[in-house]
Formats: sequence, structure tokens, C-alpha cells
Amino acid sequence: MVVMPGSEDPAEAPAGQPSEIECRQIAELLADYLEGTLPRRTAELLEWHIDGCAPCIAFVNTYRGTIRATHTLHATEIPPELKKRLLTFLRAQRKSP
Ligand SMILES: [Zn+2]
Repeated sequence: MVVMPGSEDPAEAPAGQPSEIECRQIAELLADYLEGTLPRRTAELLEWHIDGCAPCIAFVNTYRGTIRATHTLHATEIPPELKKRLLTFLRAQRKSP
């Protein structure tokens, strides 16, 4: 569990949100993610969000271009099986207080 200053409690996010992680949090987490220092679960949530969020894809591509990363977002596509597990995980979290 990563504490993100200024972030809202994900449990309070209204139903229908595309992800537990918000776009502004992606921006905050991206540097750590690209360095590989994020906890695995957080990194997966971040990937899951980005995979379905066009603005974040554009942001990541811009960011990666800026730091001249060696690989692209396209190389880190989430397998359908993993996405399904993440969805199950997220829904389970939403139900618990
Ligand atoms: Zn986003």
C-alpha cells in the first residue's frame, strides 16, 4: 500500500470510475513506476488504468519520450488473464469497508 499525499480514498470513488487510481495519481506514480520501485500491486493497478485511459497513454508516451526510455508502453500490454484478475481484485476491494 502506497500512501499518496493529497489523494482521495479510492473507496470513496463513485461507482463507474475507470480505475481505483486517478489520472493525477498516474502522473505522481509514473516516475517510480518507470524506475521499477513501485510495489508490484501498485504498478499493476497503474498499468491497468493506463491500459484503458487514452489521456494517460498519451501522457506516458510523452513522459517516456522525454526520458528516452528503452522500451515503449506497447511492450507492456496487460494480458487479458491478468486484467481479469485485477478486475476481480478491484471489485472485491470495493465491497469491503
Ligand atoms: Zn487516466
